[in-house]
Amino acid sequence: MPNSTNLANNPTSTAADFPRRFIAEGDNLDDWSRIEPYFDRLRDRDIENADQLVRWLEDFSELLACVNEVGTDRHVRMTCQTDDPDRKQAFLDFIENIEPKCKPRTFELEVKYAKCPVANQLDGKRYRVLDRSIRASVEIFRDENVPLETEEAKLAQQFQEICGKQTVQFDGTEQTLQQLAAYQERTDRELRKQSWEAGSERRLQDAEALEDIFDQMVAIRRSIAKNADCSDYREFAFKHKQRFDYTPQDCLTFHQAIEEAVVPLLREQEARRKESLAVDPLRPWDLAVDVLSRQPLAPFATADELCRKVSRVFHRVDPEFGRQFDEMSAAGYLDLDSRKGKAPGGYQATYDESRHPFIFMNAVGLQSDVRTMVHEGGHSFHCVAARHDPILSYRSSPIEFAEVASFGMELLSLDELSEFYDEEGIARATRAQLEGIVSLFPWVATIDAFQHFLYTHPNHTRQQRAEHWLDLRRRFGGIVDYSGYEDALRFAWQRQLHLFEVPFYYIEYGIAQLGALQVWRNAAKDRTAAVRAYRNALALGGSRTLPALFEAAGAKFDFSYNTLAPLIDFVRAELAKLPE
Ligand SMILES: [Zn+2]
Repeated sequence: MPNSTNLANNPTSTAADFPRRFIAEGDNLDDWSRIEPYFDRLRDRDIENADQLVRWLEDFSELLACVNEVGTDRHVRMTCQTDDPDRKQAFLDFIENIEPKCKPRTFELEVKYAKCPVANQLDGKRYRVLDRSIRASVEIFRDENVPLETEEAKLAQQFQEICGKQTVQFDGTEQTLQQLAAYQERTDRELRKQSWEAGSERRLQDAEALEDIFDQMVAIRRSIAKNADCSDYREFAFKHKQRFDYTPQDCLTFHQAIEEAVVPLLREQEARRKESLAVDPLRPWDLAVDVLSRQPLAPFATADELCRKVSRVFHRVDPEFGRQFDEMSAAGYLDLDSRKGKAPGGYQATYDESRHPFIFMNAVGLQSDVRTMVHEGGHSFHCVAARHDPILSYRSSPIEFAEVASFGMELLSLDELSEFYDEEGIARATRAQLEGIVSLFPWVATIDAFQHFLYTHPNHTRQQRAEHWLDLRRRFGGIVDYSGYEDALRFAWQRQLHLFEVPFYYIEYGIAQLGALQVWRNAAKDRTAAVRAYRNALALGGSRTLPALFEAAGAKFDFSYNTLAPLIDFVRAELAKLPE
């Protein structure tokens, strides 16, 4: 099993496959004094024709990739071993002493590009997406927003600090709210209720403090938008997130489609759960337990076993993916097992210079680990498929499509779960996956619609905020009864960290799921053709618009009822085929 020792032996400077052309061989960009001269050279270079501009853009990409490589490597090393102070210090050094110095210098080069008179001579087909991205970034930048963004980041840090301290005394020990959540899968209903109440009461203790932080954030975001000459923060966020291919109105259309096409299925699903559990009414602590009181699925015992089995899953989806995964494994680009000192969670990282993926996770033997593994696998295959491009931003796609790669791989892998389970296990895992998708859409609509309200009504009171939230819960929620827990419901939005930390980031999950479901439905008709289209779309990286990336994957980039409803019918039919 690859571990952090192999990782330390990884060459992280230059991959032989992608030789440097601008940064000197052997020059390790791990210190600002070695980075700055390259920014100076790019700033001072004369550009007289389109060929020279292309070379300049590629050199600019090479510089950023080499700097990112250092940051990624330090981040990965730190998360693999958080109790090593040297690794932590190295990462902090990057965040504090390298990254902030790169930002204004990167902006300076973007301005140089935007002003360059030969930019309009570039091949439009190849460079249009890059061109619009750089110009949008230049358009929105304001010096006076830099301190406001620092202020906003500090408030986000306060939010994290408050949440990080939330623990409760339960079942004889002090537990984090994440640990407490595990009780929601226990078959003892009274125990579930008590743990749910304990978590809910603990959160409510901080509700007012979080309201204070959020009010300040809304005010700061309003100033940021005003400085950038936007009518409100929603307009700013759409520009800042470079949402060129859809509008706020498209999102509102999507919410409506979700209300009409998905919410009825969510309510059916919960009614069915209520019946199977023989409870009335369905309560918030009845949502995670297995309806037949079975033990959790146990797909593997060790990280080695997970790695072996998931390799076979990938080989069966596509032999090329299987081969790539085996290479990652042999190269030590996986750190899968849970162990002391490792950071929580899972992620896929890309080393931008050597252009290889890395997967980090904490596998303990659950179906959710299998799901994380294939999800991050999808991101890794995306990285490998697009790594040939000399333009850095073309080697990855916007989130709306990046998550099509990962959600799509989750769905394509469902048909290969016999590596892990018998018939009954496959049915359980598949049902959990599909019911999760049915729940996801209404939640995405709730969070997104809430943000549209917050930032187009920046003078709203706390009372209005709560009322609008409750309206949305009535519109998109299921049949769960919160009687006696009205305050928990009223402040439930505070549990969604995106609202605090990454405003307007959420609709992307809904958009990507729309693409992934289409890939999966295509595979049900013609698996070979669907996987081929998926691979071809991944290879385009970020070099095309979102509608073009979706089209290449065999999917429509459309948020209307006409696209969503047939997909949900397809999910409903697949669910109907499964035994309980
Ligand atoms: Zn992902």
